[in-house]
Amino acid sequence: MPERTCLGCRSVLPKSSLVRLAMDGEGRLRPDPSGRLGGRGAYICPDRDCLNAALKKNAFHRALRSAPYVPAADALWYEIKGGAGETG
Ligand SMILES: [Zn+2]
Repeated sequence: MPERTCLGCRSVLPKSSLVRLAMDGEGRLRPDPSGRLGGRGAYICPDRDCLNAALKKNAFHRALRSAPYVPAADALWYEIKGGAGETG
């Protein structure tokens, strides 16, 4: 079982219990649960506190080794919870 580190709380957990985020073709950070976007992924627990912590630390930029456009925490959280689907 592959494991990944949550960018928020630094817990090492099975990949399947974390939320994958990646950069889309337009350079925007978005949830990528299916791994469809490819490239580097960033992982967090499905927990708002972990999202906030990761945003605060600019952890996504570091994890992706890129400078994605990062939506506001509220918008991103809504997408993580499945509100926006994958086509956005
Ligand atoms: Zn976490």
